[in-house]
Amino acid sequence: MMDEFSFIETIKQSTYKQSTLIKGIGDDGAVFRNRSSDIVTCVDTFVESVHFSSKTMSFFHVGYKCLAVNISDLCAMGATPTFYLVSIVIPKSVTNEELTELYDGLHTIASNFRMDLIGGDTVSGEQLIITVTAIGYVPAPYARYRSDAKVGDYIFVTGTLGDAQAGLEILLHNLDVDHKEYFVTRHRMPKINVDFIKNLRTIKRMVLNDISDGLANELNEIAESSCKTLLIEDAKVPLHRYIKQFPKEKYEEWKYYAGEDFELVGTVAKKDWDTVVQCAEEHDITVTKIGEVIDDPREHGSVFMRKNNELIRLDKKGYRHQIGK
Ligand code: ADP
Ligand code: MG
Repeated sequence: MMDEFSFIETIKQSTYKQSTLIKGIGDDGAVFRNRSSDIVTCVDTFVESVHFSSKTMSFFHVGYKCLAVNISDLCAMGATPTFYLVSIVIPKSVTNEELTELYDGLHTIASNFRMDLIGGDTVSGEQLIITVTAIGYVPAPYARYRSDAKVGDYIFVTGTLGDAQAGLEILLHNLDVDHKEYFVTRHRMPKINVDFIKNLRTIKRMVLNDISDGLANELNEIAESSCKTLLIEDAKVPLHRYIKQFPKEKYEEWKYYAGEDFELVGTVAKKDWDTVVQCAEEHDITVTKIGEVIDDPREHGSVFMRKNNELIRLDKKGYRHQIGK
């Protein structure tokens, strides 16, 4: 690999887009100044063979996705992405070309969202590990907290669910299905609509979570943080028409428990629902009402799903990393 100094020179942006940036790459730390917004930060770590493998992702896709999932988190907080930092552990087996490709992926999605790379760290090690920290701005009081759900709110999701899992299965098992490209792209390059989130800032209070660990898991997080009961209608959970070529028991499982769709689930007061629908239309995305936050003092913090007139408790079975033994 080239030395660390030349490497940093190759990834450094020649100009920065964000006007609040004072010092980017090249000192002991980056500096930005913002007086008008709250600042949202988030971080995610990707470990080769745990979070991605060369069987399913190119270096470009790895870079792209590492930043995409952070942008998705910022959006779920109601924030506009602005900056990111990248800490990378590079094994000897990685070539300069592969590194360049990875940073191409990062720069590509960053420039779509006018984000600036303002720092990071580079070390060598046994395994490829990438940690991306992302920073965004949200004017007060529009940060979207999962603890803000209120009785009577509608529950909604954007897009369709289970598609990213279908894409992963296609790649892992070399499945021959129709519209392969659609599913594979959903897995590799999650689509995030920042403008949709920005334009929802006429609504004072709403809850947003991004769907990274499956709808069932995200709904339970909202129910628990808000101390409310969530009731959803199974038949309303949106599926893409292409996914119906897979076995029914598969996509019925994926829609609740498969991760990585990076769609949004949220709750909003009934009076604000029309605004959400209109805003979605303007940005060419779909929103679907799937249920309601209800008053059930015995069951605070639970999620129920109605299917064929039966009420079923929807537990968290989303993908979890086991910590320790
Ligand atoms: P220091 O020794 O002060 O930590 P470094 O030599 O690690 O400085 O980094 C020099 C500059 O390059 C810093 O601005 C740092 O944030 C940036 N940087 C280092 N590695 C990366 C990386 N992998 N991606 C982006 N910026 C990086
Ligand atoms: Mg350093």
